[in-house]
Amino acid sequence: MITAVEYHRSPLRFASARAASGRISARLGATFSSAVTGSLAPLRLVTLPEPRRPGPDWARVRPRLSGICGKDLALLAARSSPYLSPLVSMPFVPGHEVVGELLDDVDGLAAGTRVVIDPVLCCVARDVEMCAHCAAGHESRCDHVTAGTVSAGLQTGFCGDTGGGWSGMLVAHRRQIHAVPETLPDRRAVLVEPMACAVHTVRRAEIADGASVVIVGAGTVGLLVLLALREFAAPGQVYVVAKHAHQADRARTLGATDVVEPRRAARVLRRATGGSLQTPEHGSDFLLGGVDVAIECTGGSGLDSALRLVRAGGRVVLAGMPSSRVDLTPLWYRELTLVGAYASDSGGADRHADFVDAISLADAAALDGYVDAVYALGQWREAIGHAQEAGRLGSVKVAFDPTRD
Ligand SMILES: [Zn+2]
Ligand SMILES: [Zn+2]
Repeated sequence: MITAVEYHRSPLRFASARAASGRISARLGATFSSAVTGSLAPLRLVTLPEPRRPGPDWARVRPRLSGICGKDLALLAARSSPYLSPLVSMPFVPGHEVVGELLDDVDGLAAGTRVVIDPVLCCVARDVEMCAHCAAGHESRCDHVTAGTVSAGLQTGFCGDTGGGWSGMLVAHRRQIHAVPETLPDRRAVLVEPMACAVHTVRRAEIADGASVVIVGAGTVGLLVLLALREFAAPGQVYVVAKHAHQADRARTLGATDVVEPRRAARVLRRATGGSLQTPEHGSDFLLGGVDVAIECTGGSGLDSALRLVRAGGRVVLAGMPSSRVDLTPLWYRELTLVGAYASDSGGADRHADFVDAISLADAAALDGYVDAVYALGQWREAIGHAQEAGRLGSVKVAFDPTRD
């Protein structure tokens, strides 16, 4: 038997969590919500049987650290779109940012090897006929995430059969498993999955050499996108919109040209890019002019800023999972290109997989101190509460250490 934090949302709980979270936000002006950690919480601490290996190419993995991600928080607060509901299987154990230890030998890797998990559950892992996307190396676009040997789930951490990182054990397909170099400690290795998403985001952004870029948001996603941008693109000016002082410091260390507070972003970028500032009757200021590429990394209201800060004909990349309604008028009027960047892929034959590049980058980069808050599974309420307030509390990534229980 294993200990796990399990997600067991029902439609009723989903609705009440959302309603309660709205009321509390309105009253306190805070995003922290007892709906997520209180008695209505869609999470619970449980004892479960070990997950079953669906086939010979699967191995059991014992998580050593597993991150809490914005996607997880959005789901818990019922802020995520019901769009994804057919692509998960209930109940499931969250946790898709995992460094762990192999418990079985699997095709060239011995039990005991320290590994990270690419969570995407694509055709190969599901043992179904390859869809066109997987065949082309775009596994994150897989059409078969509800088919095959395991139940529906776009990723490990959203699938009822594989287990997830917030537990004592999960199972992973050989395709998902990457060995971790000796030199990469657990607290940096647990950042490999979000780093792979960041590398993928930069590739999707297709930034021309010398182009100006604004990264909106300086939590884990924004900071790692900045790091990947410096490694895998050759931009000109790179601006970062950051809410908190520690985020601004980190962004400067990682090579931001300038860091601005959200409410000053339009003014600063007007000066920097030479456009004109426009003030609508309602809503935020926007630019006629602006940067070439905007990358939304907040998973929330940052998309509205991104659309208002980019020049006509520019590109807006969605790295965060969208969770708010947004006025698309600038997209139409400025003839912008809006691009999604979800998870990571192998990219086909002509480049490294995003995950492989992410391991090298996590190994080389100065990411010490990014995972500074680690909790036992039994402390899930504190852990989730801390993750919801990570920016304000000076943290970047909050993680579970399931070996502590
Ligand atoms: Zn994540
Ligand atoms: Zn596929």
